[in-house]
Amino acid sequence: MRFDLNRLLDGAGVSDVATDDVDLSRYSAGGGHPLRAPVRVTARAQNRAGVVSLDCAYRLILEASCDRCLAPIRREMTLTVPHTVVRTLQNTEDDDEYLVAPDGFVELQELATNDVIPELPSRFLCREDCKGLCPVCGCDRNVTQCRCEEKKTDPRLAALDKFFE
Ligand SMILES: [Zn+2]
Ligand SMILES: [Zn+2]
Repeated sequence: MRFDLNRLLDGAGVSDVATDDVDLSRYSAGGGHPLRAPVRVTARAQNRAGVVSLDCAYRLILEASCDRCLAPIRREMTLTVPHTVVRTLQNTEDDDEYLVAPDGFVELQELATNDVIPELPSRFLCREDCKGLCPVCGCDRNVTQCRCEEKKTDPRLAALDKFFE
């Protein structure tokens, strides 16, 4: 959806709001595609003394599997990113701070992509101290206490130990 900010940029309006659901499901993060559900964008524009601000609030549902134990994770996340909208830039060094909209329109899909994708976690954990799966027997160490750790001495290494004795 294109959000028309011409009235605000021309100083004829005070505030405006637009909402949209954007599809960011093709983007990957943490080894999967966590944004299976559409991302809800609420963009609030305001003209304060001739400066047009655009605050974008995003509500995302992240769906992934735990990096360690593979348990499914479904988590809601909110994110608000403020922008200042201008038609042209006076100083090209400021181009990171401003959102340039020469025709007065802002494409919410594009904005959401730029605001949300860099903020996605690079990996997902079901909980901070997840113990993961046992590499030997594959059991979930959060649930089961296996004894693999204790007897992991490799028989070939044991033979080597004997050799050096
Ligand atoms: Zn886990
Ligand atoms: Zn085990």
